[in-house]
Amino acid sequence: MAKNKNQKLYRKVKKNNIWGSIIAFTIFTVLFVAMMVFLSGFFLQYILESKFVNGYDEVVRLSKIYERGIENDDIKSILEESDMDFVVTDDSGIVIYKKGEDTRSTKEADVILSEENVKYHVVEDAESDMIYIDNNNNLKLRANKVFKWIGENYLSDENGDTGFVISTTDEDELKDELKDELGQESDETGSSTVHYSNGVYFQYSNNADTKDKIDSMGIPAWISVDTKDGEHFIGKAVFNLNMRDVILFLEIYAAVIILVAIIVTILFVNVIVSIVHQTRLTSLFFLDATTQGRNWMWYLINGEKTLRKRRNAKENFAVANLVFKNYRNYALCHSVKDGEEMLTKIYMTIQREIQSKEKMAHATTSNFALLLKYEDEDKLKMRLHELITKLEALGGDHDFKFQIGVDLIPSTKNEKGKTASRKNISIEQHYNNACSARSTLSGSDESGIKFFDNKLLEDQKWLDTVQEHQWSALKNEEFKVYYQPKYNPRTDELSGAEALIRWESPEYGFVTPGRIIPLFEKNGFITEIDHYMISHVARDQKVWLDQGYKCVPVSVNVSRAHFAENDLAEQIRDMVDDAGCPHNLIEIELTESAFFDDKNAMIETIKKLKNYGFVVSMDDFGSGYSSLNSLKDMPLDILKLDAEFFRGENAGERGEVVVSEAIKLAKSLNMRTVAEGVEEKGQVDFLAEQGCDMIQGYYYAKPMPKDDYTERMTK
Ligand code: C2E
Ligand code: MG
Ligand code: MG
Repeated sequence: MAKNKNQKLYRKVKKNNIWGSIIAFTIFTVLFVAMMVFLSGFFLQYILESKFVNGYDEVVRLSKIYERGIENDDIKSILEESDMDFVVTDDSGIVIYKKGEDTRSTKEADVILSEENVKYHVVEDAESDMIYIDNNNNLKLRANKVFKWIGENYLSDENGDTGFVISTTDEDELKDELKDELGQESDETGSSTVHYSNGVYFQYSNNADTKDKIDSMGIPAWISVDTKDGEHFIGKAVFNLNMRDVILFLEIYAAVIILVAIIVTILFVNVIVSIVHQTRLTSLFFLDATTQGRNWMWYLINGEKTLRKRRNAKENFAVANLVFKNYRNYALCHSVKDGEEMLTKIYMTIQREIQSKEKMAHATTSNFALLLKYEDEDKLKMRLHELITKLEALGGDHDFKFQIGVDLIPSTKNEKGKTASRKNISIEQHYNNACSARSTLSGSDESGIKFFDNKLLEDQKWLDTVQEHQWSALKNEEFKVYYQPKYNPRTDELSGAEALIRWESPEYGFVTPGRIIPLFEKNGFITEIDHYMISHVARDQKVWLDQGYKCVPVSVNVSRAHFAENDLAEQIRDMVDDAGCPHNLIEIELTESAFFDDKNAMIETIKKLKNYGFVVSMDDFGSGYSSLNSLKDMPLDILKLDAEFFRGENAGERGEVVVSEAIKLAKSLNMRTVAEGVEEKGQVDFLAEQGCDMIQGYYYAKPMPKDDYTERMTK
């Protein structure tokens, strides 16, 4: 995908440290979980190992005593008096001695304690259901009751069931106390440390350590130790998990959680702040300061995104440039603030017309950029006309005008017959086309819509080409002066000529004035051209004069743009003088339209030119807005009748009447006449009859290069 500078800029704005924070956040979360798992594992191992080691040591101690010989009464009594229940089996597993109840289950396994690197054979205690050894030889804690003191003599288990403790060795006393507490007889009593009955825990002992024992979790398991003659001493070890261990563990746990929570919160806040900051920055980046709406950058990025989307390829889009013609004037008459308020209203009005997938933005001062969908051109045109009507209504008493240029981007098919993708489209290029189309309306003061087409594209390209080459062409003398002779229709004598420009471009070939003069008039280069022509004609005349030719006046066209300069007459005089050419051999052709720009300036210039001895003529009389009135004020020498008189509908009888009257009018104002564009013998005869002084037309000669013209002159 082609990435343009706007997208790069946008990416820069969007770029921030969110991702850094999110990555840090993720890493910390993973670290936290890992730490918790590690801590839990460590704790479990610590408890199991340390507590097992104690139990194991006791079993080993008793087994050593047992090895000395159970037959010995002293040894037997030591074993019998120990706290631990045990079983002695022979190598085939048959119990040969036991103390206490044998509550071993069938589940057994070997356990390796990493610290000691000793292998234990462990058997589950069926009665307590408190230790479980799975097939993978991993130990798992499974406590079914965890007691907690909740006050003097009162306990709670993990389910929240509470009970009380009666410390006594007397069974009758116990029963009485139970009756007092419960208001009923207890149906169960026992002799081990803690008992549970009907939600009541009771302790049938007066041992001082009882409380400590109850305050822990007992995990009984049978540990087997090999003794003499293949016998196994299997002691029932109770591993007590002290509450202090649990609390220590919980404290470490809590510290880790708090620490991590602080770090995660900081990171989280950072991410949120970054997102808010970023959102604000992005919206500022896309904010149009004048209308508080979307700006040009937003249009470019989002418009292009819309166009490039695959799923939009089937839709027809139109890029439009809408201009509020009256903005400058409105802001001038009111205030810039009022002008901007009006732009905001226009923005809002257009915005209301925007449908899904369509985009609009305030592009520059009085320009709005639109991206619209359309079904067919006519409907689009109608929609735009309606939009213009709505916008014009904003003006109230003001006569608001809007012009729209449109460039169509229809959905197209590729060679395979599938909808062509627009993935490399540049909306800026299309907007530029829309602007070019719109600029063709800029000469008019009316609202209007103009669609961009290939002709416009060609014109645009040509305009750029001319603009690019005009100065070098001037310097390299690529502009040539062609001469079109003017003849006296009665004597067929050469009596004048008009100098007409041609561009002989090494790159673009022979270019006629129709293709360059209007462009030069627009870009101001015409003044250079006029100077160039005047000095070249003056030089040519001087050369011919020196060569002994019978020179006739040659007319040079001076563009209306020139009349803005009030020393025009002096400029012309100096140029002609520089060439050493007599003034009467140079005729200046003015166009009537210049008269409407500044009547007084034109009259002033004509007078000066005449004073300096130049011949002055009015070109293209009868075309456009001819005003007979203008004739009386201008001290002209020659009236050039426009070629239009001799063409199409104007020709014929009625045309002849007009021409003959125009000639008469010129004569009565002391002006000579030149008929332009005369191609036929009949016209020549008619004009001769009417007293027309000169004829410039293809009948006599086309505009020709200097050398050809020289041949037509006589010495
Ligand atoms: P224009 O000054 O009215 O020049 C007369 C135009 O009519 C010339 O066109 C000429 O070739 C053409 N013409 C003359 N007789 C006939 C005829 O019998 N039939 C037809 N069909 N055409 C005829 P060209 O040379 O193409 O010039 C066009 C216009 O360009 C000129 O109209 C003039 O306004 C402008 N122009 C030409 N050269 C210059 C220049 O050096 N400076 C300025 N400012 N404008 C120039
Ligand atoms: Mg002319
Ligand atoms: Mg003319």
